[in-house]
Amino acid sequence: MKLDDALDQIAELPDFPEPGVVFRDLTPLFGHPKAFSVVIDALADAVGEVDQLAAVEARGFVLAAAVAYAKGIGVTLVRKAGKLPSVAGRVDYQLEYGTATLELPADAVRTGQRVAIVDDVLATGGTVAATRELLTEAGADVRSVAVVLELAALGGRDKLGDLPLHVLRTV
Ligand code: IMP
Repeated sequence: MKLDDALDQIAELPDFPEPGVVFRDLTPLFGHPKAFSVVIDALADAVGEVDQLAAVEARGFVLAAAVAYAKGIGVTLVRKAGKLPSVAGRVDYQLEYGTATLELPADAVRTGQRVAIVDDVLATGGTVAATRELLTEAGADVRSVAVVLELAALGGRDKLGDLPLHVLRTV
């Protein structure tokens, strides 16, 4: 299966979570064995040479875990506030639809470790920028970001400065 055909599995849900917004739903892609593996392989290529991946719950976990397995590396699971017993860092950030807090687990990354961030969708860029901030404050060397979809109109890539961003599809 070609990458474009795999990405065509992503559904578009108009007027969610509010009127006028088109929500990109990766559920059919996750449920399609061939499309899922094609996308995971493409992300694994995109992240390049790193020691560790990092992802934000929940869809980011699914992608990053599979990519980490494919590359033979580990994954750091950045959580929404209040779920971790031991926290190395915390950051508040703006979402496309509100605000949120992310937490980095204690002992998740080592100083100088090369890390790539993996997520499903880059929208305003707030989630990835906050994740990068958490990782950098913990001493990680954040090398790249890889996402399945970039929602270009929301300008998320501007929040990343010169951090390399790999996108499988821009809409
Ligand atoms: P951002 O922080 O505005 O870039 O939003 C990105 C985060 O929100 C990602 O972790 C996505 O999971 C989620 N998100 C934003 N828009 C969509 C969408 O259309 N479909 C699926 N997830 C989305």
